[in-house]
Amino acid sequence: MRLRLTPEERRFSERAADWLTHNLPGELRPPSGVAMAEFDRAWQRRQYDGGWAGVSWPKELGGAGLSLVEQILWFEQCARFDAPDAGVFSIALGHAGPVLIVEGTDEQRGAHLDPILRGDEVWAQGFSEPEAGSDLAALRTRGMVDGDDLVVTGTKIWTTHALHSDWQELLVRTDPGASRHGGLSFAVVDLRSPGIEIRPIRAMDGGTHFAQVFYDSVRIPVRDLVGGLGNGWRVAMTTLGFERGTMTLGMVIRLRTLIDRVTDLARTRVDGRGRPLLSNDEVAARIADLAAEGVALHALALAFVSETKRTGVPGAAGSMIRPFYAELSQRVKETGADLLGRDGLTVDGTDDAQRFVPPYLYSFAHTIGTGTSEVQRNVIAQRVLGLPRG
Ligand SMILES: Cc1cc2nc3c(=O)[nH]c(=O)nc-3n(C[C@H](O)[C@H](O)[C@H](O)COP(=O)(O)OP(=O)(O)OC[C@H]3O[C@@H](n4cnc5c(N)ncnc54)[C@H](O)[C@@H]3O)c2cc1C
Repeated sequence: MRLRLTPEERRFSERAADWLTHNLPGELRPPSGVAMAEFDRAWQRRQYDGGWAGVSWPKELGGAGLSLVEQILWFEQCARFDAPDAGVFSIALGHAGPVLIVEGTDEQRGAHLDPILRGDEVWAQGFSEPEAGSDLAALRTRGMVDGDDLVVTGTKIWTTHALHSDWQELLVRTDPGASRHGGLSFAVVDLRSPGIEIRPIRAMDGGTHFAQVFYDSVRIPVRDLVGGLGNGWRVAMTTLGFERGTMTLGMVIRLRTLIDRVTDLARTRVDGRGRPLLSNDEVAARIADLAAEGVALHALALAFVSETKRTGVPGAAGSMIRPFYAELSQRVKETGADLLGRDGLTVDGTDDAQRFVPPYLYSFAHTIGTGTSEVQRNVIAQRVLGLPRG
């Protein structure tokens, strides 16, 4: 699947390739910890200084003011050059910033958008709770209005990058008497506020990518509510629209590059008789399936982009991309780890093992984070296909 490009768009791609040739970081991204976050901040800052941060964000809000097509071309060049991804900026760039662009006040946009693009503000998402994941509207973290502040008490869990974040999107219950969805509000909170405690959670790949966050009478200025009091559900759905749709776009493009890498692996690694693994019919068929599904997923993502371009806001169709991406991504990474044979049994062995094994272990999370595949199938059934609730 290729876009038919105008001469300007072709020039844009060439400029992007030229910039990446001269500006990629010289060292590998550290796998975890403060060093990893510092690496991501420096890489984001470098893109900002080069004029490549927020390609499709409005110019007056600090972005480059270009179209989603140019955003895709930038993602394509980044994938081609194996540039580091957004890392700890994934939430800030993927949905916190876009939500503020659509729903925020001028003051909120002024306070956060430029710092995000500049690499100064890392964001986390505080939606899920121990008893409210798929059923998000069951959340109980309380926000009581007290004068000019919201006083928040409760807990959020599975908060990605919480340890490295400066700010957080926070969904709280401000009116327990209202309907489940009507009583929610969406605020942005400074994670260094008094009363916040962040406890890391270790995942099976060894990293502490997420944490549980506790709030004990945390005061958040009412002016930091996004979309106004009681409108949290609407803002949360806009957030998930960006998260499941446009944010996944760059990941889809990178996945296609990874499928090429798996194919290279099958070409270069040999079986016990010295024949390339790709000469085995089963391996070849497995890789052909991955490649065909990669093309189909890419086409779906591009169709979604053109719909978003038409309507201005990502719709429920984004829910079709996310589970397709998540499940294909798991199979691509599993195939890579399988082809490594014994080398695939360690996380820190050969370069290939480092490339495939930790992502394979982490890929189990893809069908849970951002909403489980089952729940997204419900969304597709009800909101895209218009089927009745079961
Ligand atoms: C890697 C990762 C990163 C995450 N990052 C964040 C983050 O930054 N911020 C944040 O707020 N949350 C985050 N989450 C949490 C994530 O959104 C939740 O884990 C997810 O919504 C599922 O909720 P749960 O874990 O409570 O599972 P549950 O909701 O308890 O679901 C358990 C099982 O029941 C199934 N199920 C539940 N309801 C239905 C239904 N109606 N129909 C069919 N099946 C159903 C689910 O599919 C699942 O298999 C992250 C999760 C992961 C894995």
